[in-house]
Amino acid sequence: MVNTEKQAGDHVDARCTRCKEITNHTIIAMVEEKPARVRCNTCGGDHNYRPPRKVKAAKTAVAKGPKAPRRTAADRKREALQEEWQDAAGQADPGLAVAYNMERSFRLNDLVDHPVFGVGVVKELFKPNKVEILFATGTKALRCKL
Ligand SMILES: [Zn+2]
Repeated sequence: MVNTEKQAGDHVDARCTRCKEITNHTIIAMVEEKPARVRCNTCGGDHNYRPPRKVKAAKTAVAKGPKAPRRTAADRKREALQEEWQDAAGQADPGLAVAYNMERSFRLNDLVDHPVFGVGVVKELFKPNKVEILFATGTKALRCKL
């Protein structure tokens, strides 16, 4: 007679819902040669037997945790620029924007309406003929007269 099967009173590793980890359990009841009811030797709680391998899924979930907020430096830069643009131009009246034209001159913080990039704000002037404008999509250096 082979007697390698577990039986009530034996110890078995199981997932404990209270300890939230694999702990040593004492088998309280068996059903068809498998542990059905176990008692956690760590917290003393009785519960249905849960095979330890289920923790694998939990581990994967934990591993995913830090991945979710992973953003590249470019992402952060783009978000910062968008916030800056929101502050500078997002709430401004588009009617105040002057149409971009490389023949005109600009001053700092002028609101500019560009046919391709939309509404932007003049952030920097580069003499003699360039202006850096912050658009919703990022900054662009454009030609103009200063
Ligand atoms: Zn426990």
